[in-house]
Amino acid sequence: LAAAAALVEDLVGERADGWDLAGELPEPVLRELGAAGVLCGQVGPEHGGLGLSSLDGGELTARAGSLCSSVRSVMTSHGMAAWAVRRLGDRDQQRALLPLLTSGRLAAVAFSEPDAGSDLSAIGARVERAGDEVVLTGEKVWVTAAHYADLILVVARDGDDAAVVVVPRSAPGVHVERVPNPVGCRAAGHAGVRLDAVRVPADAVLGGGGQPLPLVVTTALSYGRMSVAWGCAGILRACLRAATAHVAERRQFGRPLIDHQLVARRVAELYVAEQVATRACEHASRRWDAGAPDVVTAAVLAKHVGAGQAAAGAASAVQLLASRGSQDGTVVARAYRDAKLMEIIEGTTEVCQVLLAQHAMTSAR
Ligand code: FAD
Repeated sequence: LAAAAALVEDLVGERADGWDLAGELPEPVLRELGAAGVLCGQVGPEHGGLGLSSLDGGELTARAGSLCSSVRSVMTSHGMAAWAVRRLGDRDQQRALLPLLTSGRLAAVAFSEPDAGSDLSAIGARVERAGDEVVLTGEKVWVTAAHYADLILVVARDGDDAAVVVVPRSAPGVHVERVPNPVGCRAAGHAGVRLDAVRVPADAVLGGGGQPLPLVVTTALSYGRMSVAWGCAGILRACLRAATAHVAERRQFGRPLIDHQLVARRVAELYVAEQVATRACEHASRRWDAGAPDVVTAAVLAKHVGAGQAAAGAASAVQLLASRGSQDGTVVARAYRDAKLMEIIEGTTEVCQVLLAQHAMTSAR
């Protein structure tokens, strides 16, 4: 963990604001992080990975997230792709694909479509068999990291069930078009992906396909939710660092800002937000590492808590820095924009609430 965290610190450092303004991450940085196994830290050494626990992988994700949410977003997508291969792929697919994902190739995961956002049962992309090939047709939207990815894992309808198909971005019929001007995570390479009768070998279908859609979706999203949750803890840490430095140094009305009680209250609230988010993440990661049956709910809870705390905490940090945080190119302005999007991805706030209410109705009575 320490070496991986040091590499992230070294490669990302203070560069995130420049990348955010440019809307682009340097590809060599992503490839170096990928080749060091950092982008999917939980993949085991037998596949060239770091073999981190969820708890250590989460801490690494938070460190990346505290520096740059765009890098962390790529980490989330790539890690989700690796997790899907581990959970849904057969042994040969794992042996073929996981070493690629720990050696610098980049991957993204495509669920969402123009008419299938929160309701993924409406997915219309479909895979059809054609001898020893399959043909994939459909349209995906907002695929994080698709702009950088070599491989796109596409969730498609497979008869009455679902399949995840590993599609090389270079395959004929794959069209990737960047989402212009996202509000946040501006350098994360979000893109729409159109699949025009894309032909790939049948062994590109993870586990042969024919899996229930809820299984496919829950598998990938649970990893994604954990990763986003830890990323939110990272956003809060960055805000806390920036805000505490500012209120100690800036003076108004003859004393440092922190000596005004209403300012101190905001600092306390920001600290609480970071602690609450981190504790929810730690709880979920411990359940993950224990293979506990309630891990799906723990991941939803961590994501919901993390995103809500990060969105509120980042807004508060902008308030504390006031004019100094009101400009793009500052840590808190970037955090404010990035955090808002965390309330939308991997299940919106409302979808999380629906899932948590369902859990409460079955478990708390
Ligand atoms: P909609 O589903 O249309 O929802 C609109 C509003 O209605 C929301 O507030 C929602 O909460 C609410 N709503 C919907 N249904 C209900 C309900 N039953 N009860 C209460 N409220 C409801 N997709 C991918 O496949 N791969 C990615 O890598 C990816 N990355 C993303 C990154 C970012 C930054 C963003 C913004 C999106 C990304 N997405 C990705 C898409 C994301 O998963 C969807 O945006 C998300 O699921 C919401 O879908 P939607 O935008 O279509 O909103």
